[in-house]
Amino acid sequence: MDPDAFRRYGREVVDWIADYFERIETLPVRSRAQPGEIRAKLPLKPPETGESFDAVLRDLDEIILPGITHWQSPNFFAYWPANSSGPAVLGELLSAGLAVQGMSWQTSPACTELETHVLDWMLDMLELPERFRSSSAGGGVIQDTASSATLCALLAARERATDFVTDREGCNRPLIAYGSNQAHSSVEKAVRIAGLGSERLRLVDVDGQYAMDASALESAIEADLSAGLTPCFITATVGTTSSGAIDPVRAIGEIAQRYNIWLHVDAAMSGTAALCPEFRFVHDGVELADSYCVNPHKWMFTNFDCDCFYVADRATLVRTLSVLPEYLRNRATDSGAVIDYRDWHIPLGRRFRALKLWLVIRHYGVEGLRHHVRRHVELAGLFQGWVEADPDFEVITPVTLNLVCFRHRGGDATSQAIMERVNDSGRLFLTHTRLDDRFVLRLAIGQTHTEQRHVEAAWDAIRAAAADVAGE
Ligand SMILES: *Cc1c(COP(=O)(O)O)cnc(C)c1O
Repeated sequence: MDPDAFRRYGREVVDWIADYFERIETLPVRSRAQPGEIRAKLPLKPPETGESFDAVLRDLDEIILPGITHWQSPNFFAYWPANSSGPAVLGELLSAGLAVQGMSWQTSPACTELETHVLDWMLDMLELPERFRSSSAGGGVIQDTASSATLCALLAARERATDFVTDREGCNRPLIAYGSNQAHSSVEKAVRIAGLGSERLRLVDVDGQYAMDASALESAIEADLSAGLTPCFITATVGTTSSGAIDPVRAIGEIAQRYNIWLHVDAAMSGTAALCPEFRFVHDGVELADSYCVNPHKWMFTNFDCDCFYVADRATLVRTLSVLPEYLRNRATDSGAVIDYRDWHIPLGRRFRALKLWLVIRHYGVEGLRHHVRRHVELAGLFQGWVEADPDFEVITPVTLNLVCFRHRGGDATSQAIMERVNDSGRLFLTHTRLDDRFVLRLAIGQTHTEQRHVEAAWDAIRAAAADVAGE
């Protein structure tokens, strides 16, 4: 594709995306495709000779779009948001255009230095502790996901607890990790990958609001110590995936310090709330953490993937993950004056992800980002009020940020039938969880263009579905 053709088709693609944004509300939010339906429309074999770009764009509309669940729809309230924005998409495009491999500083100095700089900005934006700043002993890096961040934190914790013996000899000490029974599934995955084994993960009890019970954590640590085991890692969650619960990070951090255990704070979703001073309670106690992560690819208008991961002691992380073969040696690395981010995550190669985050921050400004986050929290509060005012429904957990957990008083089957009905209608998409073995609906508000009218329409659709289900 020569530059002229790229220019022409590139404009068509940008137009296609802009049109998509404009018509997204007319599309059914959850894809109606049946299993295998999309593949059945694709040719069995790849084309032997090149095809026209027009044909590709036609298939995009006819084959691909019906198989898309529209995460960017303002009527998407499922799971957690994975929102995006114009500047993010354009940043992604620029990153693809430059297509650099940012594994070492030398392989693209701007890729490394912009990342370091924007991650320092994020500390100011979220009022995170100074110990995570690049000018301290710590620092930040962009990971693909919170799952990877948690794994890297656990690996560093494992090495710190074993004086780097595990990296040399394998894991032969009985290391124990802790998280609440509401912690994200990525914690168990990390414990398996790091070689601790899932039986070495303690799922600590929670209180009535699904936040970790710090005294239960301490009892579990004491029991493990008496049994001759080695506690090495605690995850505290700020905004659990199931219900948005916020673990008591300060109390957990004090325990972590007392027993010299690595504390990782997983704020993948809810950390973004700290853009607003009134929501900075989410970061209470984070200065006691050894590591921390937040996903701008959830609630900060930056398309997937972009997780900001911070450590208080970068030397431990780098020593854990660094392997320097001869073919990667260079003067800048040897001088020690630069960061080589390949030593801060699992893969060698790395994308220029800082570009889209930089574009988002510059486009919105911190005040602009704050405005949208605040609006989402307000909308969740409004929705909560409507649910509370309706005798047929109840709110299950106190709404602190942008998630409402609620159910129909008719019980599990009714709540589930309502969910299926509204999702089948295509007008909105919401998902569920189980809390205390009850089927609970989750309405998560965080799409870039969700406004009050969308939340009102969602509530109307839910109530209409409830009436239909009752009439059956
Ligand atoms: C979404 C989420 C994760 C997983 O995020 P990925 O970036 O997809 O790995 C982990 N923890 C919490 C609390 C989350 O909200």
